Amino acid sequence: MAISVFNPADISPRQVANKSEKKALLDAIRMTLGVQSAAVRRNTQTFNRNRYVATGLLADYNELKDRARQIKEQSIANLPQLLRQLEESVHANGGHFYLAKTAADANEYIREVLLRHKAKLVVKGKSITSEETKLNHALEAAGISVAETDLAEFILQVADEQPSHIIAPALHYSRERITALFKRTFTTDLPLDSGEELTKFAREKLREQFIAADAGISGANLIAADSGSIMLVESEGNIRMTTTLPPLHIAIAGIEKVVPSRTDFGVFLELLPASGTGQPLTSYVSILHPPLKAPTFAAPGKEAANGREFHLVLIDNGRSRMRDDPVLHEALYCIRCSACLNSCANFETVGGHAFGGETYSGGIGGSWEAGTGTLSNARFSELCTACSRCVPNCPVRIDIPWLNENLRQRMNQAQGSSPVKFLFGGMTGSAPEDCVAPLQKQFFGNYDAFGKWGTRFASLANASMHLPGSRSVMQSAFGIDRRRALPAFPKKTWERLYDEEKGAKQSPLQPGVVMLADVFTNYGSPERGMAAIHVLRAIGLDVMLSPAMPDGRAAMSQGMMETARRQARAIAPMLRRYLDDGRKIVVLEPSVLAMLRFDFKHLLDGDGTQALLAQNSFEPLEYLWEVAKQQRLDLAQTFPASRCPHGTRLFYHSHCQQRTCNSASQTVEVLRAAGFDVVTSSVECCGMAGSFGYKRDYYELSMAVGEDLFAQVRRADQEGGPRTLVASGTSCHEQLSAGMGRQVFHPAELLMSTLK
Ligand code: SF4
Ligand code: SF4
Repeated sequence: MAISVFNPADISPRQVANKSEKKALLDAIRMTLGVQSAAVRRNTQTFNRNRYVATGLLADYNELKDRARQIKEQSIANLPQLLRQLEESVHANGGHFYLAKTAADANEYIREVLLRHKAKLVVKGKSITSEETKLNHALEAAGISVAETDLAEFILQVADEQPSHIIAPALHYSRERITALFKRTFTTDLPLDSGEELTKFAREKLREQFIAADAGISGANLIAADSGSIMLVESEGNIRMTTTLPPLHIAIAGIEKVVPSRTDFGVFLELLPASGTGQPLTSYVSILHPPLKAPTFAAPGKEAANGREFHLVLIDNGRSRMRDDPVLHEALYCIRCSACLNSCANFETVGGHAFGGETYSGGIGGSWEAGTGTLSNARFSELCTACSRCVPNCPVRIDIPWLNENLRQRMNQAQGSSPVKFLFGGMTGSAPEDCVAPLQKQFFGNYDAFGKWGTRFASLANASMHLPGSRSVMQSAFGIDRRRALPAFPKKTWERLYDEEKGAKQSPLQPGVVMLADVFTNYGSPERGMAAIHVLRAIGLDVMLSPAMPDGRAAMSQGMMETARRQARAIAPMLRRYLDDGRKIVVLEPSVLAMLRFDFKHLLDGDGTQALLAQNSFEPLEYLWEVAKQQRLDLAQTFPASRCPHGTRLFYHSHCQQRTCNSASQTVEVLRAAGFDVVTSSVECCGMAGSFGYKRDYYELSMAVGEDLFAQVRRADQEGGPRTLVASGTSCHEQLSAGMGRQVFHPAELLMSTLK
């Protein structure tokens, strides 16, 4: 992809920061794909790789996450008491405490304090809360200059842009673009061609500001209620100078940053840097107990100030409402580490100027924009495909896709109803509460209804997709991009194929399994389902197929939560009966496996069924591998790779949710044990993500995300020629075949091809 230094779309990030209009979101995607994508990919993917290494070195990573979650849960639950205690602590230390109800209150208080001190220049250390309150604008309107001292924030201040990332606000800038920006803005003969030259240039400018500053404004990573201590982590030392050089220090933070005690800081000091940049510890960690007792700094030619003054400004600005919200309260546990941004394929491709709002970005950003602003500002959360890759990486175990699916439901409801939507919803199976959803969402959310009719009249349905104008109609009515190939409906469903083969050999191996006839396989790729049955039977398992029923995955991904809930509550008792009969459940489609393992906990009543389903459901090759290990089966004998007509050299891409379920590596083990030579992809998601890649609005983004995967295939092909493409998810098949123009197999299909 060609990289542009200037913005060809002629759109500035600030113009598209507020995404309450859909057009702003689409313009932002176009702008970021054209200008920022290469730098965003490089930087986020580096953070992500480093995070895998750093968290892998934490022997007690899971215990740390549990402890962090517990501290945050208890802190938010006890917030009113903690705030009272903190106020007393700050006063006892000799500081000032202010609890601001709104952003405007906070700005007004800070402005008053600075004017009282006759402050003309303020140095500021990175603080996303002050971005939320738009503090700089408020102070500048009062004649007070604000100098951002973090290098990235300095760049953004020069460029007049909002941050695109929580911890690396200018990560969308390449070195070349920073050079061009500085040369445009400052009169200088310096070449500014290297990172060192640029940093030195910025540092010299910032030094002048530090020396001349009348006050310093910082954020806070955490604040201890029992002592008033503040924890600050950073990489450049600028926050340390901001909080220690000027005699007046103001810390601004959201109320959710308060924890009971300084002793709680430790767990976050381990998790924050490892989860964010992948460092064991950030370069600078400050635990301050302000106001500081150290003597004040006297700038050359100036008198030292007479003592220090400290103000802690905590802001609510919607957080108390979030605390009472049954869904959004979870967002208050966020410690702003950025792991969810860096492990998100869509974010890695466009960054926070598209996948973000005026202040907050990424998968967690939608909840924050909705909580501290308005729901419509959270529109960018549509870029969350619910792939779930962020979930295991969040140090406080926030279920980010669940938050976004609920935001989607609220946005559906905010659009209001229409007779056409109700009629369409009634015909396709939406719950009455979800009939307000746009037609596109009801179309994708009720895939089972279309699958049922499409397979029943397959010839007619397939022919109609090739009629002139039919794709245009689908594009305008349902927003399905005409460039995306639509899979043909099979003439026989998986259920039908299974019924026709019912007499197949049964086996003595117990317990037997039931394959869940998920709607995607049943109506989309029944031959893959049959391949999985044959393969499991080949190792001696008694395999049966369940009736096909929607499980709620399609509906939930469109924010049709009531439809999803009803479907989950209908299918769960059926699956429970199989478990009670002693069978294990095997699920071919990884996104449906993830429903059983994780998502049903939100949708089912707490009768214990979800826990049982989570423990007893498996991906087919995951289960095969478990049985093969237990029974010491020789897979090279059962599935000799040399017999595979598609060759033994494979490129395997596992599904995003399969990886979150920890059921991907077993497929590779099985294939290798059978004698295949397997190269694996390392992307977080292929970009198709169920319905996402079909949507007209997101087709370009979906293909841009897929480009990382396609590039990995091309690299693997360079040594020894093209490899056979293998993928486990239905959407991964669509994406790989669209991007590579080659046939894609399911691992079970390859194994079946080796059977005599
Ligand atoms: S669920 Fe996937 S798409 Fe959504 S925020 Fe997490 S990583 Fe990104
Ligand atoms: S939601 Fe979790 S992963 Fe994302 S920034 Fe917050 S704490 Fe980090």
